[in-house]
Amino acid sequence: MPTVSVQTVAEAGVVGAGGAGFPTHVKLAGRADTVILNAAECEPLLHKDKEILRHFPEAVLDGLARAMHLVGAERGVVGIKGKYEDVIEQLRPKLPARIDLVPLVDAYPSGDEFILVYDVLGRVIPPGGIPLHVGVVVINVETAMNVAVSADRPVTEKYLTIAGAVPEPVTLRVPIGVTLAECVHAAGGATVEPGNYMVGGVMMGYLEEDHDALVDKTTGGVIILPDDHVVVRRRRQDWQQIVRIGRSACDQCSFCTELCPRWLLGHPIEPHKAMRSLEFNLVGEANVVGTSFCCECNLCSLYSCPEDLDPKNVCTQNKRRLASEGRRWENPPFDPGRADRHLRNRKAPTSRLMQKLGLKQFRNVGPLREELLPAVRVGIKLKQHIGAPCQPVVRVGEKVTQGQVVGRPPINDGKPALGAPVHASIDGTVTAIEDGVVWIER
Ligand code: SF4
Ligand code: SF4
Repeated sequence: MPTVSVQTVAEAGVVGAGGAGFPTHVKLAGRADTVILNAAECEPLLHKDKEILRHFPEAVLDGLARAMHLVGAERGVVGIKGKYEDVIEQLRPKLPARIDLVPLVDAYPSGDEFILVYDVLGRVIPPGGIPLHVGVVVINVETAMNVAVSADRPVTEKYLTIAGAVPEPVTLRVPIGVTLAECVHAAGGATVEPGNYMVGGVMMGYLEEDHDALVDKTTGGVIILPDDHVVVRRRRQDWQQIVRIGRSACDQCSFCTELCPRWLLGHPIEPHKAMRSLEFNLVGEANVVGTSFCCECNLCSLYSCPEDLDPKNVCTQNKRRLASEGRRWENPPFDPGRADRHLRNRKAPTSRLMQKLGLKQFRNVGPLREELLPAVRVGIKLKQHIGAPCQPVVRVGEKVTQGQVVGRPPINDGKPALGAPVHASIDGTVTAIEDGVVWIER
């Protein structure tokens, strides 16, 4: 079996497939005692991680074992919701000696790395920290599978769930670079007109107006929603509306803070105090500096607030402003014991969240269709990861084969910038390189 190394993972272009797109080789260059496989998949209606585990358990566990080897970890843990009993039953007999499985409660946001590390190991990552600070590396299910095969083939395919207002919710296997509309079409098309595309999920995803936007290494799913759906209406609220309504209706009940997962971990974020910045135009440290530690899970805005206000956006606006001003909270106050006192009792059950968001009208399934979606044209984005955009290494008119590198991170001071190469996902000819995309046609 070919040897997987940090270099093979880098050359294969493996990045976090669970949303953020952090280059995996950088993570795997660290040292940790434990690697957690993040199979929590807490975004409502998404099923791709569970389906990958169901169909390819050996490959995923192999990727987890290889990641453990690379970071020197003694222990690997599969964190998966306990409700997926059939998948757990299938996995248990396959678990190698140093890998165990921890069933998770069905709550949101159980897939947040900070929450996952606490739920699985009881360790609290400090504010502004990363899992490595408590000796842990977290990798997503699909990422682990990509690590396992990285010495053989680069990342040219993506799995994503298409759900919501479609006749046939499904998890698809597609070449990177197909359009979202092609994927929705493969699920039978939208059953509402217009069908709005929530990319990445209803909680942390975004409303994509361009249905020909391209699938990249981080696209986890598309939820189709009608125009009058509460999630769509909330996403379309502009900042002036958020400020006007928030200023007049926030009664400082503090439910947003009491249920905030990061506050419950002991971090100094208090969204109800950030809301005060609307009323008085305050930018005082006490009210807003803690917003730097908001993970943007949206729980406060879409679940906790009884007035349907938008503390999440108030937090993120403040967070971005602080970042642009280069302001950080050095040595923030931290109450690591708060998690033990409160977190387990204050989780937001997925079922109640779905009820509140009007998602129970949709079928909550996404069986995997294993055959690769056919494509005659793909657009390979030069930036599909955290870090610098790749630079094209092919020319218009050049013939390329599937798996060939078409873009690489730039070299700065003799070293590649943070990023990961991107590869052709089909055989064909490069027809254009424009707006950060390499277009390939068969
Ligand atoms: S939950 Fe809503 S009303 Fe209560 S403090 Fe937070 S933003 Fe204000
Ligand atoms: S989005 Fe809201 S609930 Fe989530 S971390 Fe930020 S402030 Fe807390």
